Amino acid sequence: MNQNPSPILVLFRQDLRITDNPALFHACKTSRPIIPLYILDDKSPGKWKMGAASKSWLHYSLKSLEESLVERGSQLFLYKGDTLEILQHLIEKYKATAIYWNHGYEPYWKKIEKKFKNLLPSSEGFKGSLLFEPTEIVNKQAEPFKVFTPFWRRCLEVLEIEPPLPAPPTISTKTIPTESLSSWKLPSSYPECLESSGIGEKAAHAKLQYFLRHAMATYAEDRDFPSLECTSKLSPHLHFGEISPRQVVYAAQKNAKFLSEVGWREFSYYQLSHFPDLPEKSWRPEFVHFPWKNNAHFLEKWQQGQTGYPIVDAGMRELKKTGIMHNRVRMIAASFLIKDLFIPWQTGADWFWQTLVDADLASNSSSWQWVAGCGFDAAPFFRVFNPILQSKKFDPEGLYIKQFVPELAHLSKTFIHEPWDKAPDYPKPLVNHEEARKKALESFKMLRTGPL
Ligand SMILES: Cc1cc2nc3c(=O)[nH]c(=O)nc-3n(C[C@H](O)[C@H](O)[C@H](O)COP(=O)(O)OP(=O)(O)OC[C@H]3O[C@@H](n4cnc5c(N)ncnc54)[C@H](O)[C@@H]3O)c2cc1C
Repeated sequence: MNQNPSPILVLFRQDLRITDNPALFHACKTSRPIIPLYILDDKSPGKWKMGAASKSWLHYSLKSLEESLVERGSQLFLYKGDTLEILQHLIEKYKATAIYWNHGYEPYWKKIEKKFKNLLPSSEGFKGSLLFEPTEIVNKQAEPFKVFTPFWRRCLEVLEIEPPLPAPPTISTKTIPTESLSSWKLPSSYPECLESSGIGEKAAHAKLQYFLRHAMATYAEDRDFPSLECTSKLSPHLHFGEISPRQVVYAAQKNAKFLSEVGWREFSYYQLSHFPDLPEKSWRPEFVHFPWKNNAHFLEKWQQGQTGYPIVDAGMRELKKTGIMHNRVRMIAASFLIKDLFIPWQTGADWFWQTLVDADLASNSSSWQWVAGCGFDAAPFFRVFNPILQSKKFDPEGLYIKQFVPELAHLSKTFIHEPWDKAPDYPKPLVNHEEARKKALESFKMLRTGPL
């Protein structure tokens, strides 16, 4: 018997978990020693290297993964630099015979993945981060779907929810040198309210259990009300792969509305896969001609939550403080930037990329395009969110606003949505919403009919 079998490199990336991790599971099944690896590669993603808030989350998520591996007699080996160069080096040095990994879908990453089999032909990629590979779902003409409803209907027709894979009970590991996480100096206290105890695989499962017991029953009715905090809060856990979509869907499969939101995540990856320019270019090309204004003053006020519209400001301040923003408020804040301030959606998406702990190239880009009206199955451009009416409808008592905009905490629900005469410390509106709306609609009409 070979006393010194060659190891398999198991490359972790957005799958920072040990349960339902096909790459880890199948590598362990070979009975060969494995080298669990995480490579922090700031070069290959180019502009899309992780933002500050994501890096904070990553710091704690890697700690948590390391603990889980140690509990099973293993370890996590950390390297910083170019993914392919590091892999090449480790293959040569430790005579590894295969790379096992779970597929990723960002355009730069797909190019990297394609080279793994050139490095080691017996390498294997697995589906661990989505329910469906984007190529699996096509319409009757064998073309990609452009609209969510038929896409998701087709997904549900073929969805077979297999029980999630268990964690390997023991993980035979080849020990190699590693860099230390602390030497990477990842930001660990931005956003200021990040709670390390709420990060990692165990925390993700605790959140899922909490959601199933206390919130799922009323999810469909309550999910749009930010003060009710009734959504699952799983998005950063799903983004970093601390929990898999299969684990989530397996546990929550009876709730069609919740399932369809996980479906939007699938649809976002589907769009990115079929239209790799999604983060940069409007899917509807005519939007290039929209008369965008790069007004730095407006942008700064929006970023700092000082627009003078309470629900927008509450959202932007929530983002800064916690790295999260409720979905309904993301839509309102994004619509305000695009259709009231005329700032290009890409600029807003960049800010979210830097500040969200769940910043995800697929979901962020597709959601911004959706709000702008230029993406796949997007909300029509003429649907302009009215920040005052939205506020009255989805935060009627002003509880969410009061949580993040203390200057307005003394106001009753009668005044909190239009507080300008009652709150001297609160900014006046940057723009008049009705006038901005008319201008946006006129510009949009020009876009469709062309200049006269
Ligand atoms: C402008 C804008 C930018 C966004 N950027 C991101 C982003 O960078 N990363 C991100 O994960 N989500 C993003 N979203 C989608 C959505 O806001 C978050 O996924 C949601 O707020 C997460 O809260 P939750 O986990 O409690 O969601 P729940 O309501 O509990 O939903 C369950 C899961 O479904 C997925 N999901 C829900 N809604 C959407 C959606 N509209 N699109 C895609 N997936 C969805 C998420 O993975 C979420 O965790 C964005 C939305 C908008 C309008």
